[in-house]
Amino acid sequence: MRSYLSNLECTYCGEIFSADEPMRLCEKCGKVLYPRYDIEEASKYFTKDVLSARSPNMWRYFEMLPIREVSNIVSLGEGFTPIFETSALGKKIGSEALFIKDEGLNPTASFKARGLSAAVSKAKELGLKKLTMPSAGNAAGAMTSYAARAGLDALVFMPQDAPDANQKEVSVTGGNLHLIDGLISDAGVISREKAAKEGLFDISTLQEPYRVEGKKTMGYEIAEQSGWELPDHIIYPTGGGTGIVGMWKAFQEMEDLGWISSKRPKMFVVQAENCAPIVRAFQNGDEFAEPWQNASTMASGIRVPSAIGDYLILNAVRQSGGSALTVSDEEMSDMTNVVGSLEGFFVCPEGAATACGAQKLIQEGSIDPQEKTLLLNTGSGLKYLDMLP
Ligand SMILES: *Cc1c(COP(=O)(O)O)cnc(C)c1O
Ligand SMILES: [Zn+2]
Repeated sequence: MRSYLSNLECTYCGEIFSADEPMRLCEKCGKVLYPRYDIEEASKYFTKDVLSARSPNMWRYFEMLPIREVSNIVSLGEGFTPIFETSALGKKIGSEALFIKDEGLNPTASFKARGLSAAVSKAKELGLKKLTMPSAGNAAGAMTSYAARAGLDALVFMPQDAPDANQKEVSVTGGNLHLIDGLISDAGVISREKAAKEGLFDISTLQEPYRVEGKKTMGYEIAEQSGWELPDHIIYPTGGGTGIVGMWKAFQEMEDLGWISSKRPKMFVVQAENCAPIVRAFQNGDEFAEPWQNASTMASGIRVPSAIGDYLILNAVRQSGGSALTVSDEEMSDMTNVVGSLEGFFVCPEGAATACGAQKLIQEGSIDPQEKTLLLNTGSGLKYLDMLP
């Protein structure tokens, strides 16, 4: 097995950088960098058939992941989460073909495990020793868990009202936790200052090029687990947007590998009513999103007032023919109980938000009830015990 990683490319100005030294944002324009691969070469050897012999975790797509040496993989068993048909829930919200991919089954009980497995593995490969990160919650626990497994030091800056579970998992896994009076955006400023001053490496969402590579594996899995036929609609609870842009990237890579056709799902962004910068920008027809003032929602994973990858998220939504909508905290917590009692999943509020979103989209006629709709339950409800009413 070898990775076909070739270089980093700026998603905005196209500038090329090396993927073999620590990099964060584009040095020319300050935008997001994506790892790129020699897909033409890869497609000769990396075929769908080789996957049957691979382990059921996200590293089964190693050729399209950014780690050069297998021995640098830092794994806790992330990825290859199951997709379930949820007909009782479907019936309730008006869909005849509703599915949930349950990301709550990941290590650290959220899909942040994917991104941090990739980013910490690459940090290890590049010889970095000390990592820092701002987090609204789940990313922090994932980073400190993977850092512990890799033997790296990890510092976290987190809003003081982040869920209890997130604070405890950071401490348990030996992370250095700093609670701050503010939001993730404020935490980000402090984390980056600290990084600059003390030579730490900051791995904020999409401000380093590798977390997105872990999250993109959701896109590969959705295709593989659905017989290489993507669903018609994907509904995604959007904070920094790594997952949605990652899946979008994966679809293109798989098309270039010759694995899927050019048919894409419509991509739908769901955000919280009181923190919806992407929804607002989508509705205004803007290329970038203005920061959201006084963001508040119990769905801490999407309490993200500004996203550096805003233009990438908006692009994916628009190119796919999807849209963006909001749901309230009350709708999320009611839906948590509906999903739990009808299907047996204790979903996180962000996951519940996707079911609320599906219901609205079906009601307004944006989604045909017969078309296949996939919800991403991005984490376990067990991490939010102190947030739920
Ligand atoms: C971080 C997070 C999100 C948002 O993910 P992005 O890819 O950053 O938009 C959604 N749900 C949960 C549970 C999260 O932890
Ligand atoms: Zn650039």
